[in-house]
Amino acid sequence: MTNIEFTAEDFRQFIYCPRIIYFRYVKKIFPRISYKMRKGADYHDSKIRKKTQTKLEKSTIYYNRFIVEPDLGLAALFDAYVESNNDYYPIEFKTGKIYSTIPQHHLIQLVIQAIILENIFQTDVNKAEIRYGADKRIEIPITLRDKIDALEQHTIMLQIVTKEIIPSPTPNEKKCQDCEFWLQCWRA
Ligand code: SF4
Repeated sequence: MTNIEFTAEDFRQFIYCPRIIYFRYVKKIFPRISYKMRKGADYHDSKIRKKTQTKLEKSTIYYNRFIVEPDLGLAALFDAYVESNNDYYPIEFKTGKIYSTIPQHHLIQLVIQAIILENIFQTDVNKAEIRYGADKRIEIPITLRDKIDALEQHTIMLQIVTKEIIPSPTPNEKKCQDCEFWLQCWRA
């Protein structure tokens, strides 16, 4: 076990482009975030971070919780998680495009959150929810295969950081257009 603690957000970024954790954790580069990213973060903060339990919700919802699972070296800032009769599951609030199939980088973020809840509360967590606006809710099943896949990615991430291996750039060059690490990366 190492003392490296990856967040669910690190996993999301790793699937988006595997080089990002190299710059963050090996090179310790924390660039200033772009105007576009700041705008998105401000919007999320104003709409999501101020949320609290309402009477309309039948289950107990805990908003804005940062939870560390030290045994696995995982952590996550949850937009929210639900507790209902000893069942737990994470909720992500999204403000962008509504996908018919959840992209892998969004899925892994929820899978890591599910693994954290599972270990903290010693229960099975087999679903997550994505909420768009006030009305649209999408339930995402989380399978054992998803959890194994996520933990396999964790092993690769640990190898990159501990052995200081720079991964290949993402094959999708369009992702580089808005990347905060472009000046360090250049896809070289
Ligand atoms: S510039 Fe492209 S390849 Fe480099 S870290 Fe960013 S997304 Fe990845």
